[in-house]
Amino acid sequence: MIRCEEILRELSNYIDEDITPELRRQVEQHLGDCRRCTVLVNTTRKTLTLVADNYVLELPREVAERLMNRLNACWGTLFIPPPENGLERER
Ligand SMILES: [Zn+2]
Repeated sequence: MIRCEEILRELSNYIDEDITPELRRQVEQHLGDCRRCTVLVNTTRKTLTLVADNYVLELPREVAERLMNRLNACWGTLFIPPPENGLERER
């Protein structure tokens, strides 16, 4: 049984269907048992679809932060919050 961390790592490959049949089977088995990964896959798929259709190029900052907070609550510290000053770098 693979873990959430591995789902996370393979997420984009899985959505792009760029993984081995065996790994795909394991991911789907995990998704059958794990609601938060299922939600993540569905959300990411929807986001990618929106981006692909040119409806949304970037999440509004407020939405992105809320999403990050929600994900952080689920996974602990796996996600790094967006930088405070957008693209500006600390000197
Ligand atoms: Zn999971």
